Amino acid sequence: EAQKETLGFQTEVKQLLHLMIHSLYSNREIFLRELVSNASDAADKLRFEALRDGSDPKLDIRISFDKDARTITIADNGIGMDREGVISHLGTIAKSGTADFLKTLTGDQQKDSQLIGQFGVGFYSAFIVADKVTVETRKADVAEDKAVRWVSDGSGEFTVETIEKETRGTSVILHLKPEAEEFADGWRLRNIIRKYSDHISLPILMLKELAMDEQEPAAEGEQKKQQEDKAPEWETVNTAKALWTRSRSDISDEEYKEFYKHISHDFTDPMKWSHNRVEGKLEYNSLLFIPAKAPFDLYNRDMQKGLKLYVQRVYIMDQADEFLPMYLRFIKGVVDSNDLSLNVSREILQKDPAVESMKTALTKRVLDMLEKMAKKEPEQYAEFWTEFGQVLKEGPAEDFANREKVAKLLRFATTESENATQDQSLEGYVSRMKEGQDKIYYITADTYNAAANSPHLEVFRKKGVEVLLLSDRVDEWLMSHMQEFDGKQFADIARGDLDLGTLDNEDDKKALEDSAKEKEDLLKRIKDALGDSVEEVRVTHRLTDSPACLVVGQFDMGAQMRRIMEAAGQ
Ligand code: ADP
Ligand code: MG
Repeated sequence: EAQKETLGFQTEVKQLLHLMIHSLYSNREIFLRELVSNASDAADKLRFEALRDGSDPKLDIRISFDKDARTITIADNGIGMDREGVISHLGTIAKSGTADFLKTLTGDQQKDSQLIGQFGVGFYSAFIVADKVTVETRKADVAEDKAVRWVSDGSGEFTVETIEKETRGTSVILHLKPEAEEFADGWRLRNIIRKYSDHISLPILMLKELAMDEQEPAAEGEQKKQQEDKAPEWETVNTAKALWTRSRSDISDEEYKEFYKHISHDFTDPMKWSHNRVEGKLEYNSLLFIPAKAPFDLYNRDMQKGLKLYVQRVYIMDQADEFLPMYLRFIKGVVDSNDLSLNVSREILQKDPAVESMKTALTKRVLDMLEKMAKKEPEQYAEFWTEFGQVLKEGPAEDFANREKVAKLLRFATTESENATQDQSLEGYVSRMKEGQDKIYYITADTYNAAANSPHLEVFRKKGVEVLLLSDRVDEWLMSHMQEFDGKQFADIARGDLDLGTLDNEDDKKALEDSAKEKEDLLKRIKDALGDSVEEVRVTHRLTDSPACLVVGQFDMGAQMRRIMEAAGQ
């Protein structure tokens, strides 16, 4: 009983397949990168399993082709899949945010191909070049006669059946579309492998191609013997050394970029990277990337975050999020430690003081990389800020030790720039502070416009004092964790008594007191009329044009915070 069944792809897969086939045409060769990347992941996982029984499996990826049959086969001896795994991995998309992503697509081919790239194409990219794909796979611990064959033409359904397979691992057989037959070619495939997959740390093998003179037809009787002599020989076509263990000067930008795409499952080039070898008390290699674009699920609880962890070059786990704080969750990369044990687990990671030290050092690396970019490449930093600024604003609350460092990286809209773009630094603000000004003033509101048009700003505009205009959801949370910067305290101008310190001269102060005395009766009448809805009515010099404004008590919750709490049902 082969137990053959026909199943439908999840709706999202169908949509993605359709889009991919139509918008990635000009970049067809990436199918091979994706399939090799999966084979490499499968080998990593098998090696990890093998750690437990102490075996040392020989792992490789073999790529072969048949020009006449128009097929390419990518075979690995990695972890493999069982029937259940095949159905869920090759029939659905598990990624969070998929539905949202699909909604952002416009129908414009060029824009969509960018977006699909960002989303990651993975296994389904096989259908860019193939009109039929066969996957034969056997999981490491499954009997030979319980292997699985998956077949699909990519249009909406696939079949799965039980087969016999002698070897462990997965073979993906692409039946090329007529217009993609050029890929069934040794030279072409070797080129693509070197271009995209050279950094893969295990050997990618192809059959040696016979030179022309060796292919000459042999005399009748000799033919058989010659064939035996020339039994096809496999040769390694990539560098096959873990990229991060190589020295920086030997690695080209292209190699870094391709490596990034492999580990991040992203499709766009990274914005920046930092590759380091640390020696001394702790020994490890790290390679950290800042992506160019924020992922769709940056705010999703179960987004893929953390680094890929290796111990002595052996893959241990994905998403090791113990090595970086949450507010740097957008960083992708690899850390390879010589100090951790090969059977390290998540539980151990959480307690190991070596991990804590590495986290401190890696955090500093990232912040330094950003600081350098902000200084030397302000335009690129502006792009970074647009993508990830909101997340970085979580930093001061989470990372007390690096508060000042993170504060330097923050960017704001202010009354100085008169623009919603967040492009002003605190250092810039401080350098523009007025004679006698000892505080950094800010206001929070729901939108930039509400902040920029607040009556609270009137006195500041009059005196020419700059105010930070905050309107992001996280801003109140951020400001509640920012006591001071460069020795200057932060002051919310919509809160409590407005103390302009020495910015007010004695005359101003006297005038305010006089007018308060004069208006005592009026203030009392207003307070009586408003009753309990206000705590106090005061004369102010905050305003120049507006007759009155509401302020929040010094220690009361801000309006934004209050709404967040209300939304949370508090
Ligand atoms: P991703 O690699 O980002 O997870 P893919 O679409 O490339 O997404 O692959 C989907 C899943 O299918 C993988 O996560 C893996 O579980 C499974 N898979 C794909 N190729 C292989 C393979 N060669 N060996 C084992 N599992 C595989
Ligand atoms: Mg993949």
